[in-house]
Amino acid sequence: MSNFRFKALEIAQSRQAIIVTPPSERVGDFFGTNTFSSEVMRGLLSPEAYLKVTEAIYTNGPIDRAIADEVAGAMKSWAVSKGATHYTHWFQPLTGETAEKHDAFFDISADGKAMEKFKGSALVQQEPDASSFPNGGLRNTFEARGYTGWDPSSPAFLMDNGAGGKTLCIPSVFISYTGEALDYKTPLLKSLNALDRAATAVCQYFDRSITKVTPTLGPEQEYFVVDRALFYARPDLVLAGRTVFGHQPARGQQLDDHYFGSIPPRVNAFMVDFEFESMKLGMPVRTRHNEVAPGQFEVAPTFEEVNLAIDHNALLMDLMEKVAEKHNLKVLFHEKPFSGINGSGKHNNWSMGTNTGVNLLAPTSKPKEILRFLTFLVNVIKAVHDNADLLRATIASAGNEYRLGANEAPPAIVSIFLGETLTKTLEDLETKNEISISKGDNVYYKLGLNRIPNLLRDNTDRNRTSPFAFTGNKFEFRAVGSSANSASTMTVLNGIVADQLTKFKYDLDTRLGRGEKKELAIVEILKEYYTASKRILFEGNGYSDEWVAEAKTRGLSNIASTPDALGIYMQPNSLALFERMGIMNHAEVESRYEIELEKYIKTVQIESRVMGDLAMNHVVSTALKYQHKLAETARNLVELGMTAEAEPIKDILRDISARVIVIKKQTESMIDARKRANNVTDTTERARLYANDVKGHFETIRYEVDKLEQIVDDEDWPLVKYRELLFVK
Ligand code: ADP
Ligand code: MG
Repeated sequence: MSNFRFKALEIAQSRQAIIVTPPSERVGDFFGTNTFSSEVMRGLLSPEAYLKVTEAIYTNGPIDRAIADEVAGAMKSWAVSKGATHYTHWFQPLTGETAEKHDAFFDISADGKAMEKFKGSALVQQEPDASSFPNGGLRNTFEARGYTGWDPSSPAFLMDNGAGGKTLCIPSVFISYTGEALDYKTPLLKSLNALDRAATAVCQYFDRSITKVTPTLGPEQEYFVVDRALFYARPDLVLAGRTVFGHQPARGQQLDDHYFGSIPPRVNAFMVDFEFESMKLGMPVRTRHNEVAPGQFEVAPTFEEVNLAIDHNALLMDLMEKVAEKHNLKVLFHEKPFSGINGSGKHNNWSMGTNTGVNLLAPTSKPKEILRFLTFLVNVIKAVHDNADLLRATIASAGNEYRLGANEAPPAIVSIFLGETLTKTLEDLETKNEISISKGDNVYYKLGLNRIPNLLRDNTDRNRTSPFAFTGNKFEFRAVGSSANSASTMTVLNGIVADQLTKFKYDLDTRLGRGEKKELAIVEILKEYYTASKRILFEGNGYSDEWVAEAKTRGLSNIASTPDALGIYMQPNSLALFERMGIMNHAEVESRYEIELEKYIKTVQIESRVMGDLAMNHVVSTALKYQHKLAETARNLVELGMTAEAEPIKDILRDISARVIVIKKQTESMIDARKRANNVTDTTERARLYANDVKGHFETIRYEVDKLEQIVDDEDWPLVKYRELLFVK
């Protein structure tokens, strides 16, 4: 085995950066060339069809069969002209990966001629043999079918299918025959509609020309990169996506010199390559830099409408994995691939834009618009405050469990950072006494609202430790895991804000009905909301123990365990909110809850198995061999009469024995815990057992193994070490 490690190291050492040539000198020449974009459609469709599709995209309305036929024809001829041979509905089942099933565009008919297969019906609806996707009991065996349906709001695109041809990928939803959502996208689209309705209604109090509100998302994606050969020499990375053992390198991130440092050439080539490929697919990938940990990097696209941004993020992750292969690298999207080193997140930058081009969370310099800005700001704060636990539920996963609360990561406590100026503004608002307005008075002036914006503009104070931070003109939810599909989080964020804005409208209408002046009524409501939710605001160090203690006195939740966090989905409040906003019904929420629990159980189970296998068959056996060598040395020394010199060696022998005993006992006890858990049929209870009893052994086993790594001769150690994995050339 140690042989394997050294062979892998040799291979990794010998690799050079692969030279990447740009598809063309100007990005404009290739940006979006692999997407069936609006411009392409305009060129290929009749004006009538183009208008209908555009309208359907804007209003989320249905597309009739004749139009679908025309679009299908146009899509096919475009795709075929670009080398496509197959098409697929591309969707996001609840496994967390993307799924596709490729069908050929043409069939061979009985007389040997090519026969067209891709019609409007195939565009609009497909029936993948998808009975193996998780459905949390939604589809029973009699109706183990679901179907995928075209989502016209996300452009179709071309992907290399690895066999020389290309595949036309059609972004789709995945639903059961009885209409329940089996994917991430369906509830997301519903939440976008809910937020549009609620936010537009509120905008109407400020500006009648606002008729549509579109939530926006810019997901910053963090990831690690390791050499491919080294990756395959670590069974835990291969099977569990993270290292279950590994002693920290002498030089980790304590120097902080990796951040914004120069990117290693091989990684740089990989980045350049996937950026080109991303741009061809119309993805506006923008920044590239090192992250805090060695071997860790980040990519961020320019923000887009949420549905598109999520499709693009899923596609980008997919693409990065494929391109990495070309460079003999492996991308790790796991939240915590290495212990003792930063984890990876997906920072969800979120805001709301209007059809009039206004960002509703951008402070403005016009006093009249400040009240609108504050209305949306305070409503988001109230929504997050009232539904902090539900937001926490959306980021719960086995991987993120290692990150939340661990080194350099936000705790599982949801808090909001606003920055000094905004906090002050809201404080002022709260403490201002009743203001009476006589005719002609400027309410904005009286409230001091005319003085906010200029200060805000250059007030870019940052707090990197806050899970939910206001960053100038958007909120950034940073606690989302790097491997997650952001849809769950975005669905809930849109949903709770939509719900809150609906309540706001109700409160405002009530006051207006009593004859109150609009501006004053709004201010009064915002004051109330602020008072009710300000305990969630926190400006200090979110990673500190003091905050954990303070959050407790403030009565904020700190849900550490994944099964407990997921349990929030099933609480009556959550179920009612999803129903009220038309996002998911009881059965759909329940199936998601079941699926997430199952995923959690399986992940911990795999980790536990890998750990047991590596501990016993690799680590303990290596330690025993090393012990044998040492024992021989000691015996030789004694034979030579050097008894005193043999003593330190005997100490090492005793140390190794003690550790081996702990590892063996703990591993056996972990296996027993697994057996006990597997015998429990109730999923919730089984997940709890995995979280507590099974996982409870991980740290002890790891501690002893990592100690052995420091004792056993480097030559004999079977697992690629952190220092070898983390520093790619
Ligand atoms: P940082 O790393 O400092 O947080 P980045 O520039 O890396 O900042 O990422 C900021 C992200 O926020 C980008 O994806 C950007 O497009 C996105 N963003 C900017 N404005 C908005 C907005 N109005 N809505 C959503 N996302 C936005
Ligand atoms: Mg950020």
